[in-house]
Amino acid sequence: MTENKAIIDPGWNFDNSYARLPETFFSRLDPTPVRSPKLIVLNDRLAASLGLKAEALRGSESVAVFAGNRIPEGAAPLAQAYAGHQFGHFTMLGDGRALLLGEQITPDNTRVDIQLKGSGRTPYSRGGDGRAALGPMLREYIISEAMHALGIPTTRSLAVVTTGEEVIRETELPGSVLTRVAASHIRVGTFQYAANWGTVEDLRSLADYTIQRHYPEAGAAENRYLALLEEVIQRQAALIAKWQLVGFIHGVMNTDNMALSGETIDYGPCAFMDAYDPATVFSSIDVHGRYAYGNQPSIAAWNLARLAEALLPLLHDDEDQAIRLAEDAISSFVELFAGHWLAGMRAKLGLFNEEPEDEALFKDLLVMMQKHRADYTNTFRALTFDKHEDLAFNGTAEFARWHEQWQARRGRQQEPEASSQRLMRSSNPALIPRNHRVEEALDAAVKQGDYSVMERLLQALSNPYAHSPEQAEYCTLPEPSDRPYRTFCGT
Ligand code: AMP
Ligand code: MG
Repeated sequence: MTENKAIIDPGWNFDNSYARLPETFFSRLDPTPVRSPKLIVLNDRLAASLGLKAEALRGSESVAVFAGNRIPEGAAPLAQAYAGHQFGHFTMLGDGRALLLGEQITPDNTRVDIQLKGSGRTPYSRGGDGRAALGPMLREYIISEAMHALGIPTTRSLAVVTTGEEVIRETELPGSVLTRVAASHIRVGTFQYAANWGTVEDLRSLADYTIQRHYPEAGAAENRYLALLEEVIQRQAALIAKWQLVGFIHGVMNTDNMALSGETIDYGPCAFMDAYDPATVFSSIDVHGRYAYGNQPSIAAWNLARLAEALLPLLHDDEDQAIRLAEDAISSFVELFAGHWLAGMRAKLGLFNEEPEDEALFKDLLVMMQKHRADYTNTFRALTFDKHEDLAFNGTAEFARWHEQWQARRGRQQEPEASSQRLMRSSNPALIPRNHRVEEALDAAVKQGDYSVMERLLQALSNPYAHSPEQAEYCTLPEPSDRPYRTFCGT
């Protein structure tokens, strides 16, 4: 009997610190049960790192947990309240289709949120059905795991189940629930919510909680709330630089989709850029290109300014002084971002040391890429392996000139050629989740119930810097099409 129990206990180890915040920040609520849960994909490696036993998680009791039909011991489900600037317009939001089950305390004593997405209506659902469709949840699973493998801070995906119920979108689609794992779900919008609908004490509780959970060093600073703001700015500058360096376009950088932890969050209309063009937009609703690839750094700074605004009452008793501190902090973003981006580009081009002209060298390459509609990922891969025949601008005089400059620049460092190439290999991914490959995997899964295409894609994406022969097939570009690739929000 004991032995049997040991096998089926998956290892949940919940605490519920968020539920100890003032009640204005959440609504307690259980998920809405679904008809017939079925496990579609489980992240074995992530489960192990969380102290969970994958074998047990495949059992019907755990699948019921992933579907919201059963509350695991120690969980205390709640929907989080938050606000947000959506495309620049401020509004009250909150978890309209998600519930925080609690925080798993992992074997190495880290605290991570376990959240169900698509678990039914909440007091914040507004007109929505509280549900999610299988395609978009698998899409979040694939892209978030690819981001993690690329070395980019992100929320993770533990499991996707189907519900046995249909959701109505443009057509009827299989309903689904994603189990998301995050350092936390505290957003810029959570602070905006506190500043607008809470008391200053509520705001202070949230700030203290965030410091304790993500920035304990800031707690020791003379002005801990300013230190919090500065730390968040640093992490976002590092994060957005990483996005830019792999060509990731988030697609909906509303302030409710920016996490204080510095993780990428909310995989709605995101996608990776193929041909290099700063104006690239995939989201069907982003008609003015607010969240285009090239705008991501300035939008991040804009969102951080909204965080600073929300924090003003805590920054200084005197409002003018508070504004000055906030402005100084925000103005540091541009330089911090540039530092991370330059460092990343140096690595992508095999450079160890710094020279003042490096930025011009990088920009010249990008100008050439844009002019020739060169594929972003494949250009850096071709440079890494000296496969000039794969370059869109091979044979042009401008490339010959640029290449000569680059080689001369590589010569002005002590590290040998082999180290430089190693650095490039580990900084330029062999593959990214290409849009046509992701769609192909989702089509097979949703339309035919064939998950093998997705499994193979996930396998190839799990080590993007391997540059293994099996990855080659995932590097090819889609057939030219008249229709641009389009992505959708909140599906
Ligand atoms: P997102 O575009 O995923 O950032 O979602 C924006 C807001 O809409 C969040 O408050 C979501 O919880 C909410 N939302 C998105 N889809 C639904 C849905 N099907 N039902 C209820 N709320 C939703
Ligand atoms: Mg969101």
